[in-house]
Amino acid sequence: MRKGMFLLIFLIFVMGLIVIVKDKSNKTLKAIPMDKSVSFNDYKFYKPEYQTRYDNYKLTNPNLLSKDIVLRVNIGLDHGFYTETEEVTKFDILMLVNKYHYVTNNFIPDNLVDISEYSKPGMKLNEECKNAFIKMAHDAEIEGYTLRAISTYRTLEYQENLYNNYMKKDGKEKADTYSARPGYSEHHTGLAIDIDNKKLSYTNFENTKEFNWMIDNAYKYGFILRYPKDSTITGYIYEPWHYRYVGLEVAKYIKEHNITFEEYYYEFLNK
Ligand SMILES: [Zn+2]
Repeated sequence: MRKGMFLLIFLIFVMGLIVIVKDKSNKTLKAIPMDKSVSFNDYKFYKPEYQTRYDNYKLTNPNLLSKDIVLRVNIGLDHGFYTETEEVTKFDILMLVNKYHYVTNNFIPDNLVDISEYSKPGMKLNEECKNAFIKMAHDAEIEGYTLRAISTYRTLEYQENLYNNYMKKDGKEKADTYSARPGYSEHHTGLAIDIDNKKLSYTNFENTKEFNWMIDNAYKYGFILRYPKDSTITGYIYEPWHYRYVGLEVAKYIKEHNITFEEYYYEFLNK
């Protein structure tokens, strides 16, 4: 009788081990990305002239999916920020200004208008962006949340002063992680807004109920959190206060797919 019991317990133990081992091996199988075997040119945004760059990038980033290798090289991430830069001359709601794309010295966004509500004095934005922001801030207010635009369109001179002050304070290398060089700031587009809740400094915006509201709702008004946490793509540290207007459809897609604007741009907009 006792022997029978021991045998039963032993059998249950062995079966348990088999289940654990099987479960682990399944997980390992699942962890292998399905598109590892997909070649770079299966993507419509593949650029044949970049083939060597894709191959080299894969060597240094063997764990990335093929799609991400193609996108990241197209973005320019296989060479340093502020290298092989391109000039952007035309205003567009979906224009890309980042560490590889700068606007010309005399660039002024289309339809630049004053914001008189939900903002510090003297702020300007592109009109479509402004209207979306006012609607968002108004709806937030009805629900008991305070949103205020504290920095919007910036002129080249303003950005120059800002960047030079940061550089004096923290040195060029550190300043580059959180402040754009003149010409490379998204604030030049008139489509970017830094937001606070009027009570705490914008650097603490992440710790406000307004931030949580923005995470849940900003996309419904066409805004995205432009510099997400731990991104290796944007070239900027996490900026919970900085939002970019991209329009309803694109904001929804970016939110649903949890990607950066760079990835969206190079998957759908870059020619
Ligand atoms: Zn900003």
